Amino acid sequence: MLLPDPLQKLISALERLPGIGPKSASRLAFFFLRAPDELSQELAEALSGLKSRTALCQECFNITMAGRTRCEICEDPRRDGGIICVVEESLDVLALERVGAYNGRFHVLHGVLSPIEGVGPEDIRIRSLLDRVSRGGVREIILATNPSMEGDATALYLQQQLRPHGVQITRLARGLPVGGDLEYADQSTLLKALSGRQEMG
Ligand SMILES: [Zn+2]
Repeated sequence: MLLPDPLQKLISALERLPGIGPKSASRLAFFFLRAPDELSQELAEALSGLKSRTALCQECFNITMAGRTRCEICEDPRRDGGIICVVEESLDVLALERVGAYNGRFHVLHGVLSPIEGVGPEDIRIRSLLDRVSRGGVREIILATNPSMEGDATALYLQQQLRPHGVQITRLARGLPVGGDLEYADQSTLLKALSGRQEMG
């Protein structure tokens, strides 16, 4: 045993984070060892409250504060409830909100269809989207899933499911890198993709 157990435990936990390899995990752990106590405490508190203090909006399934049934976007009367932009993750909402050019509402699927990984329509928030549209008042659905194989397949599936409802269905314009992530697209690319969205034929 080269490292004391508490240090090894932290390294093992950090290693499980996305994008963190064994080397960065060790580097981070040693950083905390030297850093002021407040930093560790702040991080520990933020982490432990993360799940208990947040919840999903019951309308669009975006992340919101615990205790709220609807998120700020769904409750904002200035937002156009007639347009729903369908995204894969809450981070995509954040990316589109940063652009500041969209005034409709959202629907977060929390994943994409992926037969290989065993993710079917019942595993993501598709039923609730169709329910929202059934309740009426929706004119347009923007399918803003990522321009990846799964994202395209999910958009196609949604288009088929939504077609009988008689709403306009658009897809973000290309220009987003194929295989890329909405979350990482720069603002001007995202703005172009949004304003150039095309009706799905
Ligand atoms: Zn919401």
